[in-house]
Amino acid sequence: MPVTYPVELAKAVAGSLHSAREEIVARWLDRINARVNLDIGKIFPTEELLNHVPLLIDGIAEYVENGDEEIPQGGPVLAKAMELGELRHSQGFDAYQILKEHEILGAILFSYMLERVEAGELEAGPRDLIVVSHRVAHAVEMIRQATMSHFLRVSGNRIKEQESRLRRFNRMVSHELKNRVGAIRGASALLTESWLSDEDRTRFHRMLIENSDALQHVLDNLEALSRIDADARQARNVLLPQAVAEAVRQLRGADDAKGVLIAVAEDLPPIEVDAAATELCVSNYVSNAIKYCDHSKLDRWVKVDADYTFTSGPDGEGELRVFVRDNGIGVPPEARGRLFDEYYRAHSETVTDVSGTGIGLSIVRETVASMGGKSWAEFPAEGGSIFAFSLPSRRQEDAAAAGTPRADATPTKLPGLTFE
Ligand code: ADP
Repeated sequence: MPVTYPVELAKAVAGSLHSAREEIVARWLDRINARVNLDIGKIFPTEELLNHVPLLIDGIAEYVENGDEEIPQGGPVLAKAMELGELRHSQGFDAYQILKEHEILGAILFSYMLERVEAGELEAGPRDLIVVSHRVAHAVEMIRQATMSHFLRVSGNRIKEQESRLRRFNRMVSHELKNRVGAIRGASALLTESWLSDEDRTRFHRMLIENSDALQHVLDNLEALSRIDADARQARNVLLPQAVAEAVRQLRGADDAKGVLIAVAEDLPPIEVDAAATELCVSNYVSNAIKYCDHSKLDRWVKVDADYTFTSGPDGEGELRVFVRDNGIGVPPEARGRLFDEYYRAHSETVTDVSGTGIGLSIVRETVASMGGKSWAEFPAEGGSIFAFSLPSRRQEDAAAAGTPRADATPTKLPGLTFE
């Protein structure tokens, strides 16, 4: 027997949900806040995102009212639910937390309806109440599915990207290690030959040193990469000035040998960064700036500075940019587009007398990209180079620390997302 839809009751429930939407949203936020250790302003960090929730409630109300229609795929309600999935992914929620969040929404809608029934505002028989309640439950389910499937899609894509990055990286490192070890074995075998001239002996000896230095460089990068937090969205453990100081400290000696002065800006924004990733990028850039210094200049320098911008757009994106500037030999215009490619070297060893691997910049590019940032180089008219990278941040504390607080910024501790 076809179920006749209780139109009058559905209208009353829909009207009630529409008019109480702010109250329902407030209850939902309170309940999520009580369960997730996250500041309430961060559950929906911007006005626009906060507006999503009343729209979801409106969508549920309309679905209940129009008993014979489905929530349109691609319509505004499911689109908002999908955006919620994306937001939760960027906030580092896991699938369980999202399911919990929607369970709470369902529970709140049901207790709200129960209150209306007990207050005598929704007069209807049990059958009709069950039919309308089922419709509410189905709407919540559709929203949950849209949020969850989008969350899983975003997570899946991120994992795929990371996998292919890792595969490329593996290929590059094995190729590099093989070449270097091959050169070391070849040179050391030849060094045992009695017929070698002193000149050859010195040359092979130099090859041993250069190739083992290059191996050390790859190993240092590998070690730094292994310290980078697997979940780049959560990893932030030192302030930028400390990370830069550590990277520069590691290069002490190299700068003296080349007569290059390293200057670090005193006003680096005190933003929390992933220590290993930042040190890796800064030390690759600074060591290149030292290696490719201009010996014809008396005054050789490398300068590290940074800036931070925070936009109050829908997602309130912040961006930290770090610049390593030098007055070195620069890069010929025709080579600039390929600098960050694997194995690419813009200067031949006969010109610079600098041996290298051509993988440092590609490791920087991969590392920064895996954290959602960018790496690039600029070449000022007066000569030298600027190598830069950016890292994104959504944190209002970063804006506050950098001295660009938003009106609604409330400094809080790191979001430790724990659901009891
Ligand atoms: P490597 O230094 O081992 O060759 P990288 O990937 O670090 O490898 O750099 C790639 C190339 O980019 C270098 O070979 C060099 O030609 C160029 N390069 C990098 N940094 C600088 C710099 N600061 N000034 C001039 N050229 C640079």
